[in-house]
Order: sequence, then C-alpha cells, then structure tokens
Amino acid sequence: MSDIDIRVTGRAGRITFTRPQALNAMTYDMCMAIDAALRIWREDDAVALVVIDAAGDKAFCSGGDIAELYDTGTQGDFAYGRRFWRDEYRLNAFIAEYPKPVISLMQGFTMGGGVGIGCHGSHRVVDDGSRIAMPECGIGLVPDVGGTMMLAKAPGRLGEYLGLTGARMGPDDAILAGFADCYIPRAKWGDLIEMLEASGDASHVQSHAETPPEGALRPLLADIDRHFAAPSLEALRVSLRGDDSDFGADTLKALMRGAPLSQACTLDILNRLRAGGPTIRAALDLEYRFTWRAMEHGDFLEGIRAQIIDKDRNPQWQFAGGEVPDVAVRHMLAPLGEDALTFEEEETQMKIGFIGLGNMGGPMAANLANAGHAVTGFDMADVSIEGVTMAGSAAEAATGADVVITMLPNGAILRSVAKDIIPAMTAGAAFVDCSTVDVDSARAVAEEAQAAGLLAVDAPVSGGVGGASAGTLTFMAGGTEAGFAKARPLFDIMGQKAVHCGASGAGQAAKICNNMILGVTMIATCEAFALADKLGLDRQKMFDVVSTSSGYSWTMNAYCPAPGVGPQSPADNDYKPGFAADLMLKDLRLSQQAAASADADTPMGALAQALYAQFVEEEDGKGRDFSAMLPRFEKRGRS
Ligand code: NAD
Repeated sequence: MSDIDIRVTGRAGRITFTRPQALNAMTYDMCMAIDAALRIWREDDAVALVVIDAAGDKAFCSGGDIAELYDTGTQGDFAYGRRFWRDEYRLNAFIAEYPKPVISLMQGFTMGGGVGIGCHGSHRVVDDGSRIAMPECGIGLVPDVGGTMMLAKAPGRLGEYLGLTGARMGPDDAILAGFADCYIPRAKWGDLIEMLEASGDASHVQSHAETPPEGALRPLLADIDRHFAAPSLEALRVSLRGDDSDFGADTLKALMRGAPLSQACTLDILNRLRAGGPTIRAALDLEYRFTWRAMEHGDFLEGIRAQIIDKDRNPQWQFAGGEVPDVAVRHMLAPLGEDALTFEEEETQMKIGFIGLGNMGGPMAANLANAGHAVTGFDMADVSIEGVTMAGSAAEAATGADVVITMLPNGAILRSVAKDIIPAMTAGAAFVDCSTVDVDSARAVAEEAQAAGLLAVDAPVSGGVGGASAGTLTFMAGGTEAGFAKARPLFDIMGQKAVHCGASGAGQAAKICNNMILGVTMIATCEAFALADKLGLDRQKMFDVVSTSSGYSWTMNAYCPAPGVGPQSPADNDYKPGFAADLMLKDLRLSQQAAASADADTPMGALAQALYAQFVEEEDGKGRDFSAMLPRFEKRGRS
C-alpha cells in the first residue's frame, strides 16, 4: 500500500506513514494494515519492538480520513462510520496494551486518529515542531481514539481545557498532559531509529531524551484550573466572560467555536472516567457511545460540512450558545447494548455473501456456514446448500455483507458480477475472489472495488473439489495487508494454508504458475508411465522407484494417474474429476496469456496447453480428470 510502509528492519517492526501530501491522514485501509502487522509481530520472536514514524515535516498523522465518513453519512449510511470507529478504537486499545515496546516519533501535527496511533505506545517521542491536539469538538465529535483517557489523567483541569478548546500542545505541553514521554531533537531521530532497529532495545529512547524548552501551558495551569472546574458548560462560559485577560478572551473564543453537545458530553466523559479510574477500554467505550450516534443525532456531519466541505466555518450547532440539557448528554452516552464496543480478537460471526455455488463454491460456502458464519448465497443455477440462505440476486447476497466471496467460471463473468455487487457492498467490506481468472481481470476488479472503498483480495485456490469439501484448500492471495487480514479467518476455515503473495493480481499469478507446473508434470508423469508400459516395466515398480527418487512430484506421489498404483486418486474412479482436463486447459491458457503479455518464454507451458487443447477439444478429454492423459498416451505410438 503506498499510503503506509510496513516492514521488518533488523529487530524492529517498522510502520511509516507515507502520505505526507494528505498530512498522513489515516484511511480505514491504513488502520487495518497496522492492526494486521501488529498482530503478526506480537507472535514473532524476531521482532523485539515496533517503531512508528511518518514521512514529511508537517505531520505525523493529522487524523482519520473523514471524506468517506462524510460521503457515507450524508447518504444515510451510518454503518461505515461505526465500523471505521469500532476497528480504529480496537486498534488504539491494542497499541495501548501491546506486549512489546511501541516507539512513536511524532513531528508536526498529531491530531485525532494520529493521537490514537502515536500516543498510546510505551515510548512517545516529540520534538520542537510537534503539535499535538484533540480538536474533535470543533467538528461535532468528542475527543476519541482513547484520548479522553489521557485527558482524564492530565493534571488539574488541563484535560477539560485541551478537550473543549482543541488547543495545540508543543513538546513540553504534551509531556505535561501525558500525551508524550520524551523530547528528542529531530536531528537525532535517524540515529535513534537505526539503533532501535539494530539492537531491539527500547532503552535507547530514554538515553537520547533531553529536557524540552518550557511550553505554553505550565504558566496557564492556575487559570485553567480556576475556569475549567466550573460545574457546567454554561458556567464555564460565564467564568471566562468574567476574565478580561488575553487568556480569558482567547479561551472563550476557542470554546465558542466547538459544538456545545460535544463539549457537554466531553465534560461528562471526563467526570465518569475520573470517577471509575480512567482506563483505555473505559475511555474508548464511552467515546464509541458518542461516535456511534454522532452522525444521526450529533453535529458531526454539520461540523465536517462547515470545516472541510463548504469551508464556511459557520456550523449550525445544536444548542448553540445555550445550556445543553442533561437529557441530550445522557442520550448520546447511553450504553449501546449489543452494539457496544468489544475488544475480542476475532469477530465471532461474519456476514458473508457467496456468489457461485458450483463444484467448488458449494462446499466452501457450506464449510463457512458450518463454522457459524451467516452465509447468504447466489448462483445462476437453481442450487441449494445446507446452512446457506439463498438470495434472489448477486447484489442481494452482497448487501450488508462483511465479506463477499466469488467462485465463478472465468474473468468475464467475474467482471460482470463485480459490476452488480460493488455498488451494493458497504464501504470497508472485503471483496474476495477465489475463482481462477486472468491477472488483468483480477486487477481491474480490485481497482473498481478499492475505488468504492472496499478491501479487495484475489485468492484463487488449489486443492480441487476434494479440498473444497474437506476444508483443506490452499489460498494464494493478492491485495493489501488489510484485505488479507480480514479474509484470513475465512481462509482458515476453508483451507489449511493461505499465503499472501503480494499486491492485487499476485494470487492469480501464483496460481497460474503453479498450475503450469502441474500441467507439465502431469503430462510428463503420464508419458513416463506409457513409456514404462512399452518397456515392460511394472507400473507399481515404476511408482516405488520414482516416488522416492528424483522424478518424484505431486502428480506421481499424491495424484498418481495409473489406476491401482499409489494413493487413491481419480484414476481409481474411472478418471471422473477431481480436477477436470477442461479446467487444466483453462489454467494453461491463462498462463500462456500472461506469458505473452509479460514477454516470458514458456515453451513447456505452451506445449502442455496445446496437448490439453487437443485432448479436450478433439479427443475424449472433456469432462474427464486431467490425469486421463495416461490412457491417452497408452493408446498412442510415436507418430
Ligand atoms: P462450476 O462450474 O462448478 O461453478 C461455477 C458456478 O458459478 C456455477 O454453479 C454457475 O452456475 C455459477 N455462475 C456462473 N455465472 C454466474 C453468475 N453470473 N452469477 C452467479 N453464479 C454464476 O466451477 P467450479 O469447479 O466450482 O470452479 C469455480 C472456479 O474455481 C473456477 O474459476 C475454477 O477455475 C476454479 N477452480 C476449480 C477447481 C476444481 O477442481 N473444480 C480447482 C481450483 C480452482
């Protein structure tokens, strides 16, 4: 993903925001990519610590990317926003509770969503240019991403001041308020990162730390405490109006810019957290109650309109200038019941749309339903699969799904189904295509899906109908880390192995390379048996030797084309597929199409394609297993 660079360097898991042109604003995809990487590194003994930094001078991360939230929210779709916030908050808690050191280096603006990534780790580094803020009340939200935990713990009433006015903190201020730990001049960050990567020892952070120049907040603490101890928002305004100092005037001005409902709820959240002991989970739970309702009942959409879309800076807030009734605050912060934020590692149940329920798709969908997921299926043919609810169209099956899986005959059909389902899917959901198709179709569909705010994964399989039924397929996946992470629990149900091969199309590339080898080795195995026959060599003896010698292969050892020899295979069932010769021909054609467009020399693949074409289209290969090449060779002489 070009917006974020995730890698392991030496002993460090490394995350770098690489979207400086957008002040490193964090998209849903970036958030999920961080989540996926942290989960992998948590289990990886080679990774001793995590270092998070950002490209550019202006910002570490200026917040969550709210364009998509606004677009979906103004169309009355609140589900995307709720999912975004839910998954982002889970990541914030995950960082706060991470069992390995997490070091963040925060230059420039670190606001909102950036605070959620940068300010919960174990070693939070700032420099002279750092400007940390929680400006959410200014867009009709409350300080979130766990920020209210820090605000509730800040000295005196500093939390109320920072949360209600969105004031920016320099390095000393951020350390005072508990948003950062150490001040290290930026010129030393490069050396520090190198040491961390080389040693995996987080104590280098402390040994680089210096005393920051005194910030703006320390001298203001007494004034802040005096005013912000006021028992209500209105009492706070009155108190500031009675203060004719610059501080009083500036603070009143900043206060009046924010949404009153957000400010009153922020005060209530801070009181509740202090009463119960501010923990990250308690903070996120309360914040989520507000953000879950923010589009429908709060001022969030109006705030974004005024600040970002129309830029008239003239939001029409509810309760503007007046007292916010307690009942409005109670309503925004009421418990969410079954929608409450939870912190489980895995989703217990996903809503899955499954399109294409043929020989492969049918048993794959059945396995997902069997594992407890809610599967809605669609197929052109009139099929029914146990445990799967059938829909009347592909779009209907895709509507509201967390993940849509397609298992279709070819790229043209995939493209046409994609046209139907992408508009029906909820942004943030994943489109996972498991069919075998050409690389161009896989990439085109992934691009369309991503443009619609979806995660896209091409994940063709190997293992055939037997593997689909037994749940032992191998998935070869292409797409983003976030997409792969989302689909992974489903791959684990349908298969025994899933490999993330790279960006979109990489799964299909792996599949056709694998199947080109398979086609070639099956032909080689079959012609060797036919030769052995003519030389009077017993087939079993041939198997005994080759299966343990340098000629061994999957086609010989696991899928032997000679009946009665080796483990059970389609050869023992009169060559009923198994893996049909027609499908092998399809895959070989895809490999040759890809070889032509990539200018790769694949003579054996080309010959295998020609032989399977002859077998399927001119001889008796159609509908037979691809290992039925053996009886074909048996019948033939050299000419
Ligand atoms: P299949 O023909 O049995 O199933 C395809 C299904 O898609 C059919 O039920 C068909 O009715 C349905 N379909 C076609 N157009 C549709 C549309 N527009 N909307 C909804 N449904 C539609 O094929 P299969 O064997 O299940 O293979 C599916 C994919 O898996 C193919 O891409 C194949 O190459 C790949 N594959 C197959 C095997 C195998 O051994 N069969 C192994 C690996 C990969």
